[in-house]
Amino acid sequence: MILALAGGVGGAKLIKGLASICSPDELIIGVNVGDDFVHMGLHISPDLDSVMYKLAGLNDRERGWGLANETWHFMENLKRLGGPSWFNLGDQDLATHIQRTSLLKAGNSLSMVTNQLSQALGIAHQISPISNFRISTFVESALGEIPFQDYFVRLQCEPEVLGFRYEGAEDAELLPYIEQGLLSSQLRAIIICPSNPFVSIQPMLAISELKRLLLNRLVPCIAVSPIVRGKAIKGPAAKMMLELGSNPGPEAIAAHYKGLIDGLVFDKADKQELDKVSSGGLVGLATNTLMNSDTDEKVLAENVLDFAVRIA
Ligand code: GDP
Repeated sequence: MILALAGGVGGAKLIKGLASICSPDELIIGVNVGDDFVHMGLHISPDLDSVMYKLAGLNDRERGWGLANETWHFMENLKRLGGPSWFNLGDQDLATHIQRTSLLKAGNSLSMVTNQLSQALGIAHQISPISNFRISTFVESALGEIPFQDYFVRLQCEPEVLGFRYEGAEDAELLPYIEQGLLSSQLRAIIICPSNPFVSIQPMLAISELKRLLLNRLVPCIAVSPIVRGKAIKGPAAKMMLELGSNPGPEAIAAHYKGLIDGLVFDKADKQELDKVSSGGLVGLATNTLMNSDTDEKVLAENVLDFAVRIA
């Protein structure tokens, strides 16, 4: 059994690769909820949706988020009515948010709702929020503290980042299903997907119980770097690293996850950094980490699992 921790877009690609080689019984998928927020009364879970749409084969590859063949009549009408237009909600996507919100209002937990939505979309694997508790990421910046979606969408990641706060994380209860997976004698490896370390992975690691279980792990934990040639494939990960005083690359990712991982997979374009990663006490693997197709996703997943077996 494999446990994978993922954020949205980058994480979802590796999850898809892992799901193509692991049966539903062999793969536990824990997804970040630190980006979740309520907008116009709707509970929005961007990372759960990215993983869900990806596993259902409904994601929009070009845009990188949301559903393929999306239409935008709701947004056009909302703008005409003077409503908030900074956060885009596609017509089909809206159905997910409305259905999630109504199931939550009826008393279901976020994990139950995610199971229902995933099953309705024909997804065989179980996708789990890392916690049913509310965790809210705040970006500390020169402008003060900014709620994550304001920073990410409304301000387009412009403000310089000074730090982060994950409200609710420390006391959040790790989802029991994920906790059982981490404690299971069947567990063979833990994978940290190539997601933004600060706003996709760290809100999960800030859960005290998850951090404790990772620090006391009996199986290898492998992270896959989201940085290639000093840049993020998408999003502000590299910009955040620079603003926080580190040089985006395998060495800095290794340092960021120090104590929590045993191996780091990073792109072959950065293979000259192998020595630096190894001298930090980790085992490094330089390989292709760019996932531009189903095959790339599957091959990377296979390489990561082989690497985990080797380290064990
Ligand atoms: P978000 O919440 O939608 O931003 O999702 P993530 O945090 O999971 O994804 C963003 C991160 O994924 C960025 O830091 C990207 O560099 C990384 N990423 C996206 N696509 C790829 C890829 O094909 N390979 C690797 N290695 N990283 C990727």
